[in-house]
This record gives sequence, C-alpha cells and structure tokens, in this order.
Amino acid sequence: MRVDIRPDTTIAEALTLLTRTLGEAGIEAPSRDARFLLQGILGLDGADVLARSDRPVGEDAGRLSEAVRRRVSHEPISRILGRRAFYGRDFIVTPDVLDPRPDTEAAVELALDLIEARGLSDEALSIADIGTGSGILIVTLLAELPNARGIATDISKAALDVARRNAEAIGVADRVEFVATTGLDGCTRPFDLVISNPPYISTGEIGGLERSVRDFDPLEALDGGADGLSVYREIAQNIVELQRSSVLLVFEVGATQADDVVKIFSNSGAHFLKARRDLGGHTRAVALEIHL
Ligand code: GLN
Repeated sequence: MRVDIRPDTTIAEALTLLTRTLGEAGIEAPSRDARFLLQGILGLDGADVLARSDRPVGEDAGRLSEAVRRRVSHEPISRILGRRAFYGRDFIVTPDVLDPRPDTEAAVELALDLIEARGLSDEALSIADIGTGSGILIVTLLAELPNARGIATDISKAALDVARRNAEAIGVADRVEFVATTGLDGCTRPFDLVISNPPYISTGEIGGLERSVRDFDPLEALDGGADGLSVYREIAQNIVELQRSSVLLVFEVGATQADDVVKIFSNSGAHFLKARRDLGGHTRAVALEIHL
C-alpha cells in the first residue's frame, strides 16, 4: 500500500490521506493513529495541527510516507516514532527492546505503594531490575525514589544500551549500574527490592500473538519457555542463593499467571503481600516478601 505525500501536501490533506490509508489497510483506529504519527513526525501537538492545517508538510513528506508504510504492516506507533510515554516520562524505544506497555505501570504502582506504606520512600534503597529491556522499571523507580540506587540486568547488551540512554535522559544514570547477565548471576550483594517484567509468554503461544507484538518485540523478551513460567523459576532460584536479608519482590505476570507465580516464590520462602490489576482488569503485578 502506497501513500503519496509530497512536500506541498498540506497538514490537513496529509491527515486525511493518512487516515484513509490506515483505514483501508484495516488498522483499528485510523484517525487516532494518523494524528499521532503526524504530530510525532512534525513535532506538533494537537492544537498546532489544527492551527497550521493549511501549511505544507515540507521536508517531512518522505518521513510521513515511510511512517504510514510501517504502520500498515502493524508496526506499533511507539516503534515508528522511537519513543513511548511510561508513567509520565518519555522513553527511547528501539527494535532491541520490548515496547513499554501501559500495563507495566501496575508493577511500578505496586512497588511504590509498598515502599510508601512502609515509610521507605526517602531511604537509600537498593533495587534490582531483572531483564530491564528499555529500562522503564528501574529508571522510573529511581526517578520516583530520590535516594535509591539500583542494578539493572539484561541478557541483551543492545537492550542495556537503550536502558542506559533512558537513564541518562531522565537523569538517574549516576544511581544505576547496567550489567549484562542472566537474572542476577554474578551479583553479590543483597537487595531491598527485586522487580522484574520477565518474558512470560509460553513458547507455543508466540506464533498466535498479535502481529504488532509477534513481528516487532524481541523474541527473547517474550518467550517464557514451555509454560511461560521458566524465568520466574530461575529468578526464584537466584534470589534464594543471593539474599541474606529481607527483600520485597514485585513481578509483572501474564493475565492468568498470578497464582502460579505466587506459588513459585512461596516455595522459595516468600509470602504473598498484594496484587494489582491492569487497565483491562487482569491481575498484572504481584508483590511478595522474603522475611529473614
Ligand atoms: N505484556 C507483553 C504481551 O502481552 C509480554 C511481555 C512479557 O512477556 N513480559 O505481549
């Protein structure tokens, strides 16, 4: 599918063309997506788009055509623009990282709730984020907790580079160390909080995922093994070996996994504290504690 946007195409015409092309390609919310792409590429907000609707798109014509071509093949808008808002901050997104989901805010909220309820928000907490990807969990927590420090691990060096850039852009890079490893392998000190959004889709389900996920998120950020729970088991093992003092554990979980994940960590001596739902009503994050 082609869309012919030229430098003399006006903003209003481009909006119409984009909406029509996306609609004809079966994209679910064509006018919303057209607006987001136009605003993101031209660097305008919604009011600007209206106020400048008679102006030509100029040298951005090529980028707009390219963006439509990519959206038509179901690439998420965040990947096309290379940015995604998460918990009120703007994060860099590249093909090397899982696209941040709004659902993951449930894990952040659960961790911050527990820390606040215990009066620990200003403490020098030590936090580990396992499989950090774009870094949204550790970077957001360090931005919200001014005296906390952290380690973020990932098996992907390319992902760690993205996380590092996000930590720098959001101003927390001096309080986080990025380590290329599996789980917490090689980490020697205990943590106050371990948080993770690990891969949790079962291998057999990957092929049936939406194209926007299956074709664009890195497989190693999705595939949680035969039953989707392998990485939780590895993390439980890691924590048992490492932890010599009490620790809070917060995990994102798949829509039907909360009970199984709680069981895995209970078997390692943790007790369940609290769960939190996502916007779709699924239990999306669980918190546990190992009390030593
Ligand atoms: N939430 C993602 C999805 O639904 C999966 C992310 C993960 O495996 N941690 O596709």
